[in-house]
Amino acid sequence: MSAQEKPLREIRVNPIIPSESVLVATARGMRPKKAEAPAPRDTRAHVETCPFCTGNEHMTPPAILTSPASGAWEVRIVENLYPVLDDDVSNPNFNFGLQQTIDGYGRHEVVIDHANHGIALHEMSATHLHLMLQAFQTRMKQLYQSNERLKYVLLFKNFGPAAGGSIPHTHSQIIATPVVPHNVQTEIEHSHHYYTKFGKCIFCTLIDEALTFEATIYDRESGEIRRRIDVGQYIIERGRHFVAVKPFASRFEWEVQIFPLQHHSDFLQTDGEKLLDFAQVLRRTMARLDAVLGGVQYNYFLHSLPHGAQHQGFQASYHWHMEICPRTSIPTGFELGSGLFVNTISPEVAAQKLRDVALPP
Ligand SMILES: [Zn+2]
Ligand SMILES: [Zn+2]
Ligand SMILES: [Zn+2]
Repeated sequence: MSAQEKPLREIRVNPIIPSESVLVATARGMRPKKAEAPAPRDTRAHVETCPFCTGNEHMTPPAILTSPASGAWEVRIVENLYPVLDDDVSNPNFNFGLQQTIDGYGRHEVVIDHANHGIALHEMSATHLHLMLQAFQTRMKQLYQSNERLKYVLLFKNFGPAAGGSIPHTHSQIIATPVVPHNVQTEIEHSHHYYTKFGKCIFCTLIDEALTFEATIYDRESGEIRRRIDVGQYIIERGRHFVAVKPFASRFEWEVQIFPLQHHSDFLQTDGEKLLDFAQVLRRTMARLDAVLGGVQYNYFLHSLPHGAQHQGFQASYHWHMEICPRTSIPTGFELGSGLFVNTISPEVAAQKLRDVALPP
């Protein structure tokens, strides 16, 4: 019996953040989670009343950036009308006993990904996605340069109600925060710890293993095959410069991460042909997810080394990446209470399904 047919019930440790683990439990009938239906997709190209559609530019705050700079826009960045962080009022930091607050200073902006209202990411051309990624980079650079109180610029997308998406017109968001988010900081610290121990970037090691590792692990007593690890088992998609990997300890059933093959700590270091390759790998990865899941709701976000001086020593140990988290179920009380993620599909089976999708070249 192959490992893929046998129901799995095991706790997998996240290699990057060992304090984070996932219970992979695939046996039918013991699934502790309710499946989330795909979002009904609004596929209209133009909606008269939508503030993000062409012709309604007056309904949003003025554009901070448009791309291309002249003529009809294809990507447009505006301030968020309902920012979670803002730079207009200043609330000084506050400490009293165990109560501590940091000023909610920051920026919250909306990237209108495409002029077409209902277009899905995988339906956009690689050239368009390249333009969108360039707009992300330009704005991230500007924000880091604008104020040294901004410690991190997080780029993310919520698509579909289960992923927190409230406006149907395709868009991403940028939030610049006065603190480095906990998730990023933890990755930075753990990968640095690995680096000081082994002299290697843990993300590069993970990519190398995903690309070349092959092993059969036998049971010492019975001699039966306990586990087989195949070449490329976790690779979903690869381009010349990027690779999409299904994490061994996937927190979400269909989670995929995209890494540059060359070691770069900062997303802003990736340019030219490499950025275009990222656009292609992203588009093809989203097409695979869409083919398997049909109208998938998801979040994606970029993790990149913060620009502050205190992070400059982490350039060799940190490796930027994009995490794509399809939301096919809602976290349960068990997950929230224990901090243990529950994944009901074997990451190896999910990877195989995504890889098997026949895409046009
Ligand atoms: Zn629209
Ligand atoms: Zn690396
Ligand atoms: Zn990350």
